[in-house]
Amino acid sequence: MKRIVVLGGGFAGLIAAVGAARKLAELNVPSTDIGVTLVNRDAYHAIRVRNYETDLSDVRVPLADVLDPIGVERVVGDVTGIDPARHEIALAGRAPLGYDRLVLALGSELVRPPIPGLAEHGFDVDTYEAAMRLAGHLAALPARPASPGRYTALVIGGGLTGVEEAAELGTRLREIAGDAPSRVIVADRSSRIGQGMGPGACEVIAEAFTALGIESRPGISVASVDARGAVLASGERIEAETVIWCGGMRAHPLAAALPGPRDGFGRIPVDRFMKVEGIPDLYAAGDIATVPLDPTHASVMSCQHARPMGRIAGHNVVCDLVGTAPVALEIGYYVTCLDLGTWGAVYCQGWDRQVQAQGEAAKTIKRTINTERIYPPRSRHAAEILATAAPVTQAPPLRVAAK
Ligand SMILES: Cc1cc2nc3c(=O)[nH]c(=O)nc-3n(C[C@H](O)[C@H](O)[C@H](O)COP(=O)(O)OP(=O)(O)OC[C@H]3O[C@@H](n4cnc5c(N)ncnc54)[C@H](O)[C@@H]3O)c2cc1C
Repeated sequence: MKRIVVLGGGFAGLIAAVGAARKLAELNVPSTDIGVTLVNRDAYHAIRVRNYETDLSDVRVPLADVLDPIGVERVVGDVTGIDPARHEIALAGRAPLGYDRLVLALGSELVRPPIPGLAEHGFDVDTYEAAMRLAGHLAALPARPASPGRYTALVIGGGLTGVEEAAELGTRLREIAGDAPSRVIVADRSSRIGQGMGPGACEVIAEAFTALGIESRPGISVASVDARGAVLASGERIEAETVIWCGGMRAHPLAAALPGPRDGFGRIPVDRFMKVEGIPDLYAAGDIATVPLDPTHASVMSCQHARPMGRIAGHNVVCDLVGTAPVALEIGYYVTCLDLGTWGAVYCQGWDRQVQAQGEAAKTIKRTINTERIYPPRSRHAAEILATAAPVTQAPPLRVAAK
């Protein structure tokens, strides 16, 4: 019997495993001939993009609900190494796992620079566990002794995650503080908060922040963090008992352990079939991989790209094993939808990020993305689950006619 192994049960990995099962079912390959196994650190598919939200009650889907109905084997385990020569995966505390074809989809991790005190005192929303730790800390603030920074949150990093986190926190902290004053400050080295979103979205972010009472501190850098706040490189101190680090993502560290080139984010280059060049039988998808989308743009670490990459990888490992033609990745659009808390959201289209919707109109799109579009079916219906992983890309969330 041959075995396809998928490492990682996030946006790329889950849909890759479903995609492989879909193609095997389409070809009527018996599960005794080719099996699919998904390895994940825990028993959940994490809807990681929602970790900035206040309500975390529905941001994890049991992998069993998606994989058991379609006959994909689940292994809960911590991957510690990959040996492409032996076709083996090392797992913490368990026997190694062999594979015939491997899909690497271990995602990315928050970049954590060695700023003194950040590791001990900083919070983040990179994982469900980290978001829950932040939620526990925020809920416990009223029980702390009154102090100048008790209800002040300093969000370091004014990229997409930092902006979404700050916008959500404005209302959240106000509710926790009750009658006491609260502050949310977003600090970034760059000259404008949300700069990576382009000038149009920056204006919208600024408008939303003004309405939400969120303070922007562009052009500064943080020198150290402690239990009561942070000291800036200028020597200025900000009293803030909640410091949240949102400093960007880097490919999973196991990417570095494989031979071959990496891009600036530590990602493994793959071709448009999701195949890793130079390593036999290895495919990669999602944040751990980079694929050229057109002559000038590569994939972005996003679920928008991780999901189609995963579908294609899952489909193509089966094609590779049975000897049929693979399918190339085609994503004909790029959009960004940034949550701006109770103010709304901003929706941009194109690599130049033209603002197409804002406020409540964009918030409706964001809600649909976060609560429907990126979820796997939870019906436990095999046909419905398999259908989501056909090797095609979803249409954009909002179709805007080209001007
Ligand atoms: C707060 C936040 C907001 C975001 N907002 C957006 C957004 O609005 N739009 C957007 O497109 N993207 C957004 N992103 C980025 C998006 O979440 C990632 O790009 C996406 O999750 C990548 O999918 P992936 O499958 O490659 O990785 P992941 O979804 O991270 O999945 C990786 C999986 O591998 C597992 N894993 C990792 N290491 C091991 C190991 N050693 N052993 C076993 N299992 C392991 C993990 O548990 C996880 O299940 C956001 C991210 C964050 C943190």
